[in-house]
Amino acid sequence: MPGEDVHISFTNSTKFYDMLVTVQFLGGMSVYLGCHLSVSKGYLAMGKTALSIGADTFQFFTRSPRGGGVKPLDPEDITALAEFAREHHFGPLLAHAPYTLNPCAADEGLRGYALETMQDDLRRLEYLPGSLYNFHPGSHVKQGAEIGIEKIAEHLNRLFETPFSTTVLLETMAGKGSEVGRTFEELRAVIDRVEQGDRLGVCLDTCHVFDAGYDVVSDLDGVLEQFDRILGLERLKAVHINDSKNPMGSHKDRHEVIGGGTIGLDAMVSIITHPSLRHLPFYLETPNELPGYAREIELLRRCAAERIGEEYHG
Ligand code: FE
Ligand code: FE
Ligand code: ZN
Repeated sequence: MPGEDVHISFTNSTKFYDMLVTVQFLGGMSVYLGCHLSVSKGYLAMGKTALSIGADTFQFFTRSPRGGGVKPLDPEDITALAEFAREHHFGPLLAHAPYTLNPCAADEGLRGYALETMQDDLRRLEYLPGSLYNFHPGSHVKQGAEIGIEKIAEHLNRLFETPFSTTVLLETMAGKGSEVGRTFEELRAVIDRVEQGDRLGVCLDTCHVFDAGYDVVSDLDGVLEQFDRILGLERLKAVHINDSKNPMGSHKDRHEVIGGGTIGLDAMVSIITHPSLRHLPFYLETPNELPGYAREIELLRRCAAERIGEEYHG
């Protein structure tokens, strides 16, 4: 692989390292970028699909998001994907829990179901070492955010009674209805109540934080400073890169195609090339079929290369 030797000899020098990152951007190698894919044809099939659309990572639902059954585990298929991803230098794969789970539901039966489902998902993910597992903290539905936060933390404490290697990510939410996780402070409050908090990370969804009122368009640095102060940037493990159909602070959670919404292409490029973010994996959850995803991946890679190039030559 070109550049590997250079990488090793210059890692001590930030300037040279950044130049190398530039070269990798220009070669289309360094931004881990992919999209949400369907697991319906199996695990290895997702890896092949990702590669065919220019992605070098992807996200998938562990099971039908509307609940119901899950296919029996095929260790051969999932191991084949792990091998394929390694061979093609993929970034971390992101498994997404069904969004219908509510770890802070008032109903204890629903909470038990959320716990069992996540336990089962994490057992399966042991076959995909290095992957990440993202979940929506939940909706407190009239119980109040305080109770919601307590219940989510209790859920995680129970989940972490089992040893598994996958890092679990709390997703930043838009604040639709009574969603918990609409502010960085709410996520911090959950993490503070979890005994093994080092097993937790955060997935930042650009549409969600914008809808929640964080101005990633005109004050990206300010938003990242807040994130760092409240949660610590080292907690940030993944980014959902989505445009939004609605204005900042709308609390709506309606994703838009890249460049077609209120965040816009320019801000998207600033996000994926930001020095504090560009080492992270990025996942599109935009309203697209595969050809649309392929176009967005190509567009973002090209714009990122141009932007990074400008920083050094412009
Ligand atoms: Fe999500
Ligand atoms: Fe998301
Ligand atoms: Zn969303």
